Amino acid sequence: MTLDLAGIGIGPFNLSLAALADNVTGLDVAFFDRKPNFTWHPGLAFEDSEMQTSYLKDMVTPVQPTSSWSFLNYLVVQGRFYDFMAARFDTVSRREFTDYMAWVAESLGTCTFATSIQEVDHDGNRFTLKTDSGQTIRATSIAVGTGPVPRIPADAPLGQNCYHGIEYLNRKADMRGKRVVVVGGGQTGAEIVLDLLSEHPGPDELTWLSRRDAFWHLQEGSLVDQIFTPAYQRAYRQLPAEIQQHALANQKYSSDGLTPATADQVYRALYRQRYVNGHGQTSLRPGREVTHITPRYGAFELTATATDGQTEGLTADVVILATGFETTLPDCLSPLASRIDLQPGGALQLGDAYRVQWDGPDDAPIYGLNHGRQSHGIVDPQLSLTAWRSAVILEDLTNRHLFAALRGNQVGLVDWETMSGPVDIRISA
Ligand SMILES: Cc1cc2nc3c(=O)[nH]c(=O)nc-3n(C[C@H](O)[C@H](O)[C@H](O)COP(=O)(O)OP(=O)(O)OC[C@H]3O[C@@H](n4cnc5c(N)ncnc54)[C@H](O)[C@@H]3O)c2cc1C
Repeated sequence: MTLDLAGIGIGPFNLSLAALADNVTGLDVAFFDRKPNFTWHPGLAFEDSEMQTSYLKDMVTPVQPTSSWSFLNYLVVQGRFYDFMAARFDTVSRREFTDYMAWVAESLGTCTFATSIQEVDHDGNRFTLKTDSGQTIRATSIAVGTGPVPRIPADAPLGQNCYHGIEYLNRKADMRGKRVVVVGGGQTGAEIVLDLLSEHPGPDELTWLSRRDAFWHLQEGSLVDQIFTPAYQRAYRQLPAEIQQHALANQKYSSDGLTPATADQVYRALYRQRYVNGHGQTSLRPGREVTHITPRYGAFELTATATDGQTEGLTADVVILATGFETTLPDCLSPLASRIDLQPGGALQLGDAYRVQWDGPDDAPIYGLNHGRQSHGIVDPQLSLTAWRSAVILEDLTNRHLFAALRGNQVGLVDWETMSGPVDIRISA
């Protein structure tokens, strides 16, 4: 049997595609993930961590609010709707949103876990996907939703006491009496620092290093949110590449800063540690770039360069790298590597409808999810347009009009259309 679409990876992005495909008649799809069951960044699933996006931007609602796979339907099915509403949450916890996504994945019937896709090739007619159990899956199209990989500084001596933040809760050992350094001044670094500050007794010394020149907040609000809309994305796609680069740099803190709530919590914990409780020492050092981490006598020597060019040294028992993520060619696509266009950083080069540019036939699309930060804008790696992207992909795949939302009002309240060219403004006297 040949599937119409095989999805590799079941994170939120391919899960949305699976959820919306469920209502498309006559479409044979199957999605595979190597994890034993659905989880979402469990190493950072702190009890209090909150979503940075609205629960209405779930797997389906923005394009198909009548789908059974919405967050609101999950609340109803769980018998929790009124209790949830009465709580008047501004945002939901990442744990509850994970539970919602796990419910979708387990209920759908098209999501298979504990199955790693090892190799993907194309035999001239269709894709062949080899799994770790030796099975071969055949499909006319594939959706690559394998997610980004942790960004690790060159030569970092990874091991039991030096690891990426994505593993924090799985790896965290007893930190009492230790010297701990957290590298990276984004939201992940902040959540880890906050967790370490809440340990009593916790580390003897805690240092938080950030390359950024201050601990910058997220830029938020109705007008900032306009860049997370289909209207902005359409205008962004028309911009020349160098203007897109400039826009991405300008927009960094719309998605990559600290939430004000977490930043305030860190500051208050710091204040109490310094002036009220008096246990341990914490040092926040922005404007430092870590250049070397060297193992020495069971600990680590770190060298950091400050913005003024001065270098400083630090000793740590534990180093946690909250250094972000990067998008690269997934290993399983190696057999097709020479046929696929890549962006300079290694991400898949995307064209319209999230199609990966490759030399295969037009009726053998490879869809790239979470590879479009450069081509589709800063919204691509986050959840805001997840359902929208899934709808675009499904219409492209079936060549049918399936989602009225894609043809509704897409102009929005901000006029982006003139961004890409000179504006001819005439003022009459
Ligand atoms: C801690 C954290 C919190 C975030 N919170 C938000 C938020 O609140 N709002 C927001 O908009 N964005 C948020 N993001 C950003 C973004 O939404 C997430 O990174 C999201 O998980 C990306 O989804 P994805 O489907 O691309 O990848 P992932 O979630 O990384 O999923 C990829 C999946 O592919 C599987 N896989 C990989 N290779 C294979 C293979 N060869 N075979 C089978 N399976 C494979 C992996 O096991 C994994 O399950 C957050 C990111 C992080 C790190």
